[in-house]
Amino acid sequence: MKLSRRGFMKWTGAGAAALSLSRLGFDVKPVAAYATTLRIAGAKEVVSICPFCSCGCNIIMFVKDGKFISSEGDPDYPVSEGALCPKGAAFHSMHVSHHRILKPRYRAPGSDKWEEKDWDFVLDRIARKVKDTRDKDFVEKNDKGLTVNRVETLFQLGTSQMDNEECAVSHQMLRSLGVVYLDHQARV
Ligand code: SF4
Repeated sequence: MKLSRRGFMKWTGAGAAALSLSRLGFDVKPVAAYATTLRIAGAKEVVSICPFCSCGCNIIMFVKDGKFISSEGDPDYPVSEGALCPKGAAFHSMHVSHHRILKPRYRAPGSDKWEEKDWDFVLDRIARKVKDTRDKDFVEKNDKGLTVNRVETLFQLGTSQMDNEECAVSHQMLRSLGVVYLDHQARV
């Protein structure tokens, strides 16, 4: 019989617990009945990857009736063996949190209120700001007369949710603008 580490843990854990409790004279039937009413009972398990850093820990997502209802680490993943740091452990709670922002927000200069905007608005605004800043601050030569072609007033901090290809394209685009300051959350 081919058994994954996850399957083995479920199988031996449940068997050992039931055996020890029943040896002590406990009736384990109610526990077994309770287990079948757990929230994830009957849910489909989908293995995904945590997007929050480059460790890329596997996360098992439980999907029931088309909804993502819970998540946990994957014991079969060789790097973390089922462990997750607080960010990965909070994967499902972040997904359903009422604090989660689903649309771009904009706070106008001098305003104390955030307004919901569409993506066209924010992308146009970012493009305008980048163009104006580059036009204003582009440095062609440094103090020694050497050609540098750079802009030092723009900075980009990348997200760990970007894959290698997205990082490569983003990096090329920024370098072509003359941006010299860029960093990435996932460069651990
Ligand atoms: S953020 Fe945590 S759980 Fe997610 S990949 Fe990194 S170490 Fe793993």
